Amino acid sequence: MKIRQFLLKFLEKYRKFMYGRYGTDELTYALILLSVIFSLISNFDKLWFFYLISILPLAVAIWRILSRNTNARYNERLFFLKIISGPKSKLKNIKNRIRDRKTHKYFICKNCKATLRLPKGRGKINITCPKCGAKMIKKT
Ligand SMILES: [Zn+2]
Repeated sequence: MKIRQFLLKFLEKYRKFMYGRYGTDELTYALILLSVIFSLISNFDKLWFFYLISILPLAVAIWRILSRNTNARYNERLFFLKIISGPKSKLKNIKNRIRDRKTHKYFICKNCKATLRLPKGRGKINITCPKCGAKMIKKT
C-alpha cells in the first residue's frame, strides 16, 4: 500500500502545483506533435538542426501548460481551432470520399461550389443542388 500512498501524495502535490495554471489543450498537443515530428526529421543526415528547432514548440507547449494567464491561453486555443477548422474539414472530406468510393459519387456544383454526394449506379440523372437550386444532369 506504500506505492498507493506515494501516488496519492504525488497527485495531491501535482494538483496543488497545477492550481490556477492553464494545463493542456489541443494547441498544446499540436505543439508537442510538431516537436516530435521535428525531432524525427532530425534523424536524417544533414537535417540535424531540426533537433534544435524541435525544442521550440516543446518549450512553448510547457510554457502554456504552466501559464497562469488562462484567458490569453484560451484565446490562443480559439484562434488555433479557427485556423485548423478549414484543413480539418478538407481532410474529413477526403476520408469520406475514400470510405464511400464504391457506393457514392461526388460532384461539385458549378453554380455554388457545394459538394454533392450521390449514390452510384443510377445512370444519367437530373440533380438539383440542395444549396442553390441549380439543375444539372450527371452520370452516376
Ligand atoms: Zn449549388
